Amino acid sequence: MRVYNFSAGPSMLPEEVLKRAADEMLEYGNSGQSVMEMSHRSKEYQAIFDATEAKLRQVMNIPDNYKVLFLQGGASTQFAMIPLNLMNKNNKADYIITGQWAKKSYKEGAKYGNARAVASSEDKTFSYIPKVSADAFDKDADYVHICMNNTIYGTKYNYIPDTGDVPLIADISSMILSEPIDVTKFGMLYAGAQKNMAPAGVTVVIVREDLLGNAMDITPTMLNYVTHADNGSMFNTPPCYCIYVCGLVLDWIIAQGGLEKMKEINEKKAKLLYDFLDNSKLFKGTVVPEDRSLMNVPFITGDADLDAKFVAESKAAGFVNLKGHRSVGGMRASIYNAMPIEGVQKLVDFMKKFEEENA
Ligand SMILES: *Cc1c(COP(=O)(O)O)cnc(C)c1O
Repeated sequence: MRVYNFSAGPSMLPEEVLKRAADEMLEYGNSGQSVMEMSHRSKEYQAIFDATEAKLRQVMNIPDNYKVLFLQGGASTQFAMIPLNLMNKNNKADYIITGQWAKKSYKEGAKYGNARAVASSEDKTFSYIPKVSADAFDKDADYVHICMNNTIYGTKYNYIPDTGDVPLIADISSMILSEPIDVTKFGMLYAGAQKNMAPAGVTVVIVREDLLGNAMDITPTMLNYVTHADNGSMFNTPPCYCIYVCGLVLDWIIAQGGLEKMKEINEKKAKLLYDFLDNSKLFKGTVVPEDRSLMNVPFITGDADLDAKFVAESKAAGFVNLKGHRSVGGMRASIYNAMPIEGVQKLVDFMKKFEEENA
């Protein structure tokens, strides 16, 4: 029996996608082979790859002057690739610190140049998003980096910082494809796929072409965006199967009605959970209401033993991976695109019952 999996990542994939991948496992089309076995230089695989990129461009409305790259090394490798490739004019960059991933990115940036933490919400355990106005940013910075949805803490930017002419770069690992995003407001967007678009192994980079071509001399060939941009992400073997599944996920999103529809469904799901938390006598959310994520919902009872009891009982009832990140404790429900609304409703029902039994 399949469980409701609230993991922050790798996370649930739509059942339709898994079934289609299963159907095509032994033979893709009339190719006589599985996608897993195909040469990445074959005509069949190139067609899968091209269609996946085209669908991502369509779904996210990515303009032609942006490159879409399918890379490896996870979102974490981007923390280094960004400064190596883009901290290239004045050797400085501004970072907003809204959690562990944002901080890791900032620390990596500091290895290669003058990285400045413009603002941070660490004073309140990253439970809010700092409102940073245009004049706070250095006009000479090569870029500003933000983490748009903070997977561990459950916060999300509900505004796009105004960085003027300085390119804005956003880590959207845990919110990509969950709602429409205006790509033109960013110099670069990136995401590890394992939260909301594919199995672990592929990282999507969407970068404005004019920012490329000026990497630091020390940049390894494999960490240079131009290497991958000039070779259609096939300088070396790409994560072929992950990219194929990403294509299936995009088909599923298109069939659902695209990102406007995903947003509508995701808002409905998140509202179910937040409304319950706001009215519960036992559970409460940890994030200020205006900065709440649609994807990651952390909550606590205020009693570590009771939290542990909840995690154990929920697991036995078929709701798995609800334990909060080891750095914050409590619980966290990650409700990405593939989590059906019934899963959230059943979780809320279970929480109500737990509350009655333990109040
Ligand atoms: C999971 C996550 C990462 C790390 O991704 P990897 O692919 O494991 O390197 C980075 N940023 C955010 C926002 C994440 O959610």
